[in-house]
Amino acid sequence: MECGKRPRRQTFLPLAQPVISEEEIDAVSEVLRSGWLTTGPKVEEFEERFKRYIGCEYAVALNSCTAGLHLALEAFGIGPGDEVISSTLTFAATGHVIDWVGAKPVLVDVNPVTCNIDPAAVEAAVTPRTRAIIPVHYAGLACEMEQILALARKHDLRVIEDAAHAVGTRYRGGKIGSFGDVTVFSFYAIKNMTTAEGGMVTTADGKLAEKIRKLSYFGIDKNAFSRYDQRGRWYYEIESLGYKYNMDALQGALGLVQLTKLDSLLNKRALLAHHYLGSLSGMSDIQLPPCDVSGDKCRLGGRAGSCESGRSWHLFPVQIDFNHLGISRDAFIGQLQSANIGSSVHFIPLHLHPYYQHAHGFRPGQFPGAEASYERLISLPLHPKMEYSDVDDVVAVIADVVRNSGL
Ligand SMILES: *Cc1c(COP(=O)(O)O)cnc(C)c1O
Repeated sequence: MECGKRPRRQTFLPLAQPVISEEEIDAVSEVLRSGWLTTGPKVEEFEERFKRYIGCEYAVALNSCTAGLHLALEAFGIGPGDEVISSTLTFAATGHVIDWVGAKPVLVDVNPVTCNIDPAAVEAAVTPRTRAIIPVHYAGLACEMEQILALARKHDLRVIEDAAHAVGTRYRGGKIGSFGDVTVFSFYAIKNMTTAEGGMVTTADGKLAEKIRKLSYFGIDKNAFSRYDQRGRWYYEIESLGYKYNMDALQGALGLVQLTKLDSLLNKRALLAHHYLGSLSGMSDIQLPPCDVSGDKCRLGGRAGSCESGRSWHLFPVQIDFNHLGISRDAFIGQLQSANIGSSVHFIPLHLHPYYQHAHGFRPGQFPGAEASYERLISLPLHPKMEYSDVDDVVAVIADVVRNSGL
């Protein structure tokens, strides 16, 4: 590298990328050749394996995490006149589903260090109309579930975990999805594991699981279908206004392969994340993502390469004091881009979006924790195809930008 010249990669380093090998391609091809393309044995097998992986009683595969969040609210009978509390620092899915069932989204602030929902803010937002809480395990870091579940018991609320980032996250010895009321995972293309598009609901409540399954396919009860089997294979009864959210066999086949690789994908993410943590730790204007709510320094431990805290590393979001550095976030992202490095921002808080302001009266300034984080957040590339040298490239560019920022 020449003096005064910014390091630049030869090839573009994307923010995120799915890991698809010949195994997945073969599994999907096999389904295509089999003649059975939609919900059926492959999806059932995927549900069984996923249950075993998480350690939960019931699992229902769907065509997205968004669908699962929507159906969980419906299955709990939440609708007009009800309020649902969630984090403002999340993706559109988490807030929109509350609107879809006609309930009122009550967004609350996050802890600006963890970016997870603040249990104290949840408690302060509870009213007699509150029916549920949707905590979001931001970037794979588990929310303070003990406090949130205790709050829910105290006020008789349901808890629907948005675990879109948290497949494989451990919390107090159990995996996310193995405790609590209902948990919803995402298998979107760049999540911890993928079925291209897809999602899964887990719960210990068999009746709830059946309700969700029925709602995922037009409100048609498959058990009733077999009960009335003597009437003929053609017979079915529509029992409620369900949706079309079922998972297909291609997705099921993809999920089965990805699930066998999930722990190694997560371990690779943890190794890369800890390499970032070590390499960026000296930079005072960069606040690093914590491994747990205590913010203590975390180690790699447990099974080789996994984060001792149980955090899964879906994203690597750092918070940079751009004001102090004297460079705007856009310029910073531009510098990374011109060095051939992708990055993004997770998330623009929901309450700052025009829709949430028009429809629900949210306004800027309402959630100082989330807004302080949002001003400073930038997600650096993190995916299992990366190597330490890729992390080193990102760190070198950041160090160079910081060095030349006029400080
Ligand atoms: C990706 C994501 C979702 C939606 O997942 P889909 O499977 O795409 O529906 C929900 N919540 C959060 C926080 C997400 O990042």
